Amino acid sequence: MNKIDMGGTEIIDWTRTIVWEAGDSHLDAICPACGDAAAKRVRLRVRSPWPPHPEQPLVSCPACGTAFHPTMGQPPYEAVLDPLVDVYLEQNAGIDVMAELLAAIDPAGVRRYIEIGCGFGFLLDYARVAFGWDARGFDPGYSARFGREALGVDIQHVYLHSAADAGPEPYDLALCAELIEHVFEPEKLLVVLRDALTTDGTLLLTTPSATGIRPETQPGTLLSMLCPGYHYALYSPKGIEALLRRVGFKSVMVVDRGHTLRVAASVGDELKADLTRAFDRSPYHDYLRTRVGTTDPASSLGVGYRYRLLKELTNAGNFEAARAAQAEVFAACRQRWNLDFTDPARLLADLSAAPKPRSIEEHHNAYPFCLGSILYFSGILAWLADGQHDLAQRWFQVAAFAGEQMRATLHIIGADDEESEELMWRACCYASHLLVWSQPDRAVEELQALAHTPSALLGERIPAGILEDAQRKVFVDLVNLGQYKAADRLAAAVEAALPESGAVLASTAFALGILTLNHRKAPRSAAAFFERAHRACLELPDRATAPIVQALLWPSLFHQGQALANAGRRDEAGAALRGLLKPEAGLPSVPLDLRARTELLVRTQRLPT
Ligand SMILES: [Zn+2]
Repeated sequence: MNKIDMGGTEIIDWTRTIVWEAGDSHLDAICPACGDAAAKRVRLRVRSPWPPHPEQPLVSCPACGTAFHPTMGQPPYEAVLDPLVDVYLEQNAGIDVMAELLAAIDPAGVRRYIEIGCGFGFLLDYARVAFGWDARGFDPGYSARFGREALGVDIQHVYLHSAADAGPEPYDLALCAELIEHVFEPEKLLVVLRDALTTDGTLLLTTPSATGIRPETQPGTLLSMLCPGYHYALYSPKGIEALLRRVGFKSVMVVDRGHTLRVAASVGDELKADLTRAFDRSPYHDYLRTRVGTTDPASSLGVGYRYRLLKELTNAGNFEAARAAQAEVFAACRQRWNLDFTDPARLLADLSAAPKPRSIEEHHNAYPFCLGSILYFSGILAWLADGQHDLAQRWFQVAAFAGEQMRATLHIIGADDEESEELMWRACCYASHLLVWSQPDRAVEELQALAHTPSALLGERIPAGILEDAQRKVFVDLVNLGQYKAADRLAAAVEAALPESGAVLASTAFALGILTLNHRKAPRSAAAFFERAHRACLELPDRATAPIVQALLWPSLFHQGQALANAGRRDEAGAALRGLLKPEAGLPSVPLDLRARTELLVRTQRLPT
């Protein structure tokens, strides 16, 4: 366990306080999900965030897989969560993730909507603005009080003890997001919700998934899921379903998204929700625009909306509008924190001058919590919208540092931010990636160094999935640029981490084929890569429309034939090219020039087709 003593305050390195239990230690405890009373194996121990920070065991239910902390007590909510409200507003409230939950429901079928544990009330506000629902929330917490003032939403600051407390009229839809994991007696809560709904009403639930509690889960993600001292139970799909059925919900649907469970339930026989329905983001864009227009730019709420609009528009590829959103969020940060965004290198120097904050307040007096994320999306814009590689690289360098600094600040009280973790590592990768065009060898060296170098403040290692993704992208770009020598240095790692199927396999295998053919002069091995690329295209479920199929389906087959011909395998070459000259019905048409090249190849090499 690593402890750093800073001015008498104990700073705990939280991600290192998670200790996996290798032995066979058991505790007696009743499972809050399925009621199983057998002794439960301890899976890990994590320290409580409150002095004297005792270790809390997390046990796993052998009957349903739900994990929980049997020795945990009621947390002193208000006292500790207060400073996190600004983190929530500026950075980690996933308003879009919340809004996406409502995509499971046809908005026309809902008039009255209730949300338990609504927190600040973003989703109540969204439901009201986007769908015109009559929305009411219940939450006794501080942030709910603040949200009612700031957003003007209907929030009651009480615990619901019975359905009568929710009002005389029943609701069509109830939502309970990221709440049930905090609750010591979940049955009581679910009974209240059951009784507050109409007979064909829907309950939507989200909660961290017990299936994500694994040693290989990224440390920041794992810590957010465990949320030591706050999360009592992490439900398994089987456990949450058992719990709901016991309370009287007859129709239950559970989707395990890896780190999160999404659940829909009804007391009726028919479930009106469909958790697989796609999320239409345009009402969310409109909502953000509306709120950017109505909030004070210097408030945490105002900064948060402006940052989210920048992120949303950048991700949507709407760069023109994203630039306007960027200007708005820069202006807000200048107004409140006096930050200067004209020179990312100087911003990095300023941040590095005081790398480890002593308190959350001290950090927030100097910087917004979303600084790393704002800088990250500025990097994306400079790169993709403006093609300014040098500037983008500097944005990513400072984004990585700012994101880690913000996380180091949250670690003071045992909190973390998954998105900042992800963006910080991607920013590190992109900073190397952007060297591909000017200094291809250095791009490779920096990426390789990233694999072995712990991060500056938290001493973490880059998650394998993010590194592999970056290696693939850099490799493909190097091959496309004809930088074969530099690409070759990444080839072994890229080949070792090839995915089983999909668009990424297609593009990576194709690039491996090109490198093997042109640089390694090994046509038979190259043909095998082209064949994999071609097959990956054919096996894509959306092959009729996928851009990768348009780009690579036929070129990969042509190259396969050409490589086989080069290798002197004339029969195999002819067989491959036959597929191109006489394509099966239902496949995209062969480009005319490629067809002409194929015919020429067949003729000059006298291939049997
Ligand atoms: Zn159980």
